[in-house]
Amino acid sequence: MPVSGLPPYDDNNIFARILRGEIPCKKVYEDAHALAFHDINPQAPVHVLVIPKGKYCSFADFSAGASEAEIAGFIRAVGTVARQLGLEAPGYRALANMGAHGGQEVPHLHVHLFGGRPLGRMIPSAG
Ligand code: AMP
Repeated sequence: MPVSGLPPYDDNNIFARILRGEIPCKKVYEDAHALAFHDINPQAPVHVLVIPKGKYCSFADFSAGASEAEIAGFIRAVGTVARQLGLEAPGYRALANMGAHGGQEVPHLHVHLFGGRPLGRMIPSAG
């Protein structure tokens, strides 16, 4: 369900097409609630995206409309993927971009997992 003030879910966004199997991905994990795959343009030695299988644009509609099972399943999948990638001990960053100010390019909720090296400051200095 669209959240007030946000555009409706776009069924043709690239991650929807990956979920439907119309576009390939380098899958690292899948379960009933989530799919994880390597980012096509990695920004770190490890850069994986974890997405819920439901039609959610961002945490706005996910937090408002997803079932408890979907929310638990997605968050557990994020942790499982990080563990399976060996990121827990050295540490990693989980990041989700939301909307225009967040720089979100693909309008299907996704969490980026970055790791494989020290990642520096949380947000680079402006300019
Ligand atoms: P965001 O700016 O948070 O919306 O990030 C979208 C991410 O999706 C970017 O890091 C892209 O490199 C990545 N991406 C776009 N298309 C694909 C694709 N077909 N397979 C994997 N990653 C993709």
